[in-house]
Amino acid sequence: MSEKFWTHLSLQEMDTQQWESLCDGCGKCCLHKLEDEDSGELCFTSVACEFLDLDACRCSVYQERLKHVPDCVSLRPENLSEFAYLPSTCAYRLIYEGQGLPDWHPLVSGDPYSVHAAHVSVRGKAISEAEVDEEDLDLYIIDNL
Ligand code: SF4
Ligand code: SF4
Repeated sequence: MSEKFWTHLSLQEMDTQQWESLCDGCGKCCLHKLEDEDSGELCFTSVACEFLDLDACRCSVYQERLKHVPDCVSLRPENLSEFAYLPSTCAYRLIYEGQGLPDWHPLVSGDPYSVHAAHVSVRGKAISEAEVDEEDLDLYIIDNL
């Protein structure tokens, strides 16, 4: 993989390996979101998809995720317009918005655990949907994603 490819390639120009490596493994996009009926604003909750490994912050069924969760986010260069709904730290959103990657991103640090060390991932902050009544989701709304 060419060094710092994200600084000179657009999202559309990246190959599959480059594209996949952009994901920092924060797990935030696997948290349930609620939409404010009046403003349309999306609010993240700390309730995670049942297939998210809460310690590794990785999908436990990644290759078959759409079979298990048909509305799972499938990020592709073709659906760039959806990126505005991703958390502000997400590398896909950052690159889409013309920003650089932060120091804690594994591609910059060279360490896949730096996203956890920087407390950016959901490790230690999320609860599985299997433990939460769907009607209580609003009790788990969180800020600062
Ligand atoms: S929010 Fe972005 S960087 Fe974090 S896990 Fe999801 S796709 Fe990867
Ligand atoms: S199926 Fe996997 S990638 Fe999709 S929301 Fe659940 S944990 Fe995340």
